[in-house]
Amino acid sequence: MMSSAPPSRLQGSTPKEYDFYKTVQDHLDRAAKLAKIEPYVQTILSQPKNELIVNFPVRMDSGEVRLFKGYRVQHNNLLGPFKGGMRYHPQVSLDDVKALAATMTWKSALLRLPFGGGKGGIKFDPHSVSRQELQRITRRFTHALGENIGPEYDIPAPDVGTNGQIMAWMMDTYSNMVGSAQKQMVKGIVTGKPVASGGTLGRQKATGQGIVYCILEWANEKGHNLEGSTLTVQGFGNVGSNTAVILSRLGVATVAVGDHTGYIYNPEGLNAHKLQDYVEANGTIAGYPGGKAITREEFFATKADIFAPCALENQVGEAEARALDVKVVAEGANGPCAQVGERILLEKGVDILPDVLANAGGVTVSYYEWVQNKRSEMWSEEDVDVRLEAAMKRAYREVSEYARQRKCDMRMAAYAIALKRIEAVYKEREIFP
Ligand code: NAD
Repeated sequence: MMSSAPPSRLQGSTPKEYDFYKTVQDHLDRAAKLAKIEPYVQTILSQPKNELIVNFPVRMDSGEVRLFKGYRVQHNNLLGPFKGGMRYHPQVSLDDVKALAATMTWKSALLRLPFGGGKGGIKFDPHSVSRQELQRITRRFTHALGENIGPEYDIPAPDVGTNGQIMAWMMDTYSNMVGSAQKQMVKGIVTGKPVASGGTLGRQKATGQGIVYCILEWANEKGHNLEGSTLTVQGFGNVGSNTAVILSRLGVATVAVGDHTGYIYNPEGLNAHKLQDYVEANGTIAGYPGGKAITREEFFATKADIFAPCALENQVGEAEARALDVKVVAEGANGPCAQVGERILLEKGVDILPDVLANAGGVTVSYYEWVQNKRSEMWSEEDVDVRLEAAMKRAYREVSEYARQRKCDMRMAAYAIALKRIEAVYKEREIFP
């Protein structure tokens, strides 16, 4: 989330027993079989390269010292530096971060980016602390990670509960750690920075924009007219709100929205721009006057053309999948569909645009930011969008073509393409020593 307001209050409803890492492992196993990946490559990719846990003290406003637990998982860096977001959320756990880090490896490979995969975070609720505490936690975490991150080694970005402001604090802390002579050379230590601090135009909306390019390709392929279509969105932070706003310009009406506080509905369409401004100011959709409150069950049963889950993993289980009455699910969040949910949706004939494809616009524009930082350049927003559009549409077509040829679903196709690219490099470079 990149608003100037503090990150939205998060509670999460992911049940403890859900094993996100196992889900991602199962995807890997099935795709490796489909693409006939060398067993030794699959073995290497089945575990992250590095798993780092840091416990660090922070003095709170009250004077009390609290210990925080931070994670950074570096899954793979064969194709380039580890790359992936930082999540601040009470449910952050090592296994979930491992799952998210692996997902980043596939995403970077699928989009042909010179990056590997990583992910990190801190287990706490960013809304339970003051702004100054949030800054001290972020700076101390960055310091604790020390040389385990770096602009040519491992590059964090925003994720759930973090935003551009937090990236600015991370960059500032890191640049103060490397010494005066290198200060200007390390802007690329994080991406998703505010533009004035070295961020790129177009990054804030990039993930939503990328989702929309995928939806456009999907509509084109299916002969579906987006003008007059309807959308439901779960999660109205950075990804969800930008997806809804950009789709509204294409004539798509957002009829139901939900976040951690509840769900709202308006059959005439909620004004996505106004709702985004409201969330920017209030941190949540709660109290927004333009819609009627509905339950989570009613939200999932709301008929629409497109459903964009943009909150957390494991939101679409059996009940939700049975209730959903949509044509396509565009996964803005990472891992929103549990395997059982995915199976039911596919059986019902619902198309799923998988996370590793649909939400890859964020890391793609992060790459553009990183390149601009290296070259001390500033591209126009149009430049960024043109490149992003070409990258997303090419990836979509590759995935769609593979799925058609191999008669598999789009997630398996996306994984298989990514794995093949990584395998090719392992075969060329072989294993050290
Ligand atoms: P964010 O913090 O800006 O927004 C998260 C949203 O999810 C908020 O509206 C929050 O209220 C809602 N939410 C949280 N718990 C919920 C619950 N239990 N039920 C319903 N809603 C809930 O985060 P974001 O950056 O928009 O990320 C959202 C998802 O997109 C995550 O899965 C993230 O990994 C993924 N993603 C983000 C980016 C990016 O560029 N920010 C890129 C790729 C993927």
